[in-house]
Amino acid sequence: MISTNSKELLEMPIHDFIIPAEKVAHVQIGNNAEHALLVLTKTGYSSIPVLDPSYRFHGLISIRMIMDSVLGLERIEYENLEVSNVTEIMDRDIATLNINDNFKRALDLVINHAFLCVIDDEGTFVGIMTRRVILKQLKKYVYQPKS
Ligand code: AMP
Repeated sequence: MISTNSKELLEMPIHDFIIPAEKVAHVQIGNNAEHALLVLTKTGYSSIPVLDPSYRFHGLISIRMIMDSVLGLERIEYENLEVSNVTEIMDRDIATLNINDNFKRALDLVINHAFLCVIDDEGTFVGIMTRRVILKQLKKYVYQPKS
C-alpha cells in the first residue's frame, strides 16, 4: 500500500526538479563527432542531448557511441571524427519525460537512465531531470518524520 506522503510525492509535477535547457551542455545537429567528443570530454558528462537550431530534441550522444563509430578492425580511425555527423552516431530511441509528467513517471524511468530529457508538447527540449535530483527528493520523503 502507498502511504499518503509517498502518494503526494509520486503525484508531484516534475517542473520544479528540472535542470533548465540553458544550463544543459548539448550539441547541435550538423556538428561533427570531433566537436561532440570535445564537449563530452571537457564537461565530463557521460552523454548529452542533440538538438536542432529550434531546440527540438533529436537524441543522445555519448563517448562510447562516438568511439564505437570510429573503431576499425585494427585501429581507431580518428580521421573519421571530423567527417562524421552526430546524427549518424546518436541514439534516437530515447525515453523522454513530458513537462507535464509527474514524479512517479520520472522515478519509473530513471531506474534505467542516469538522466532523462524533458520535452514539451511541441518536442522542444526543456531541460533534464537527473537521477541525482530524483534520489535527493526521494531521500527527503523517506527520512520525513511520520505525521
Ligand atoms: P549527475 O547527476 O550530475 O551525476 O549527472 C548525470 C548525467 O546527467 C551526466 O553524466 C550527464 O550525462 C547528464 N547531465 C547532468 N547535468 C548535465 C548538464 N548540465 N548538461 C548536460 N548533461 C548533464
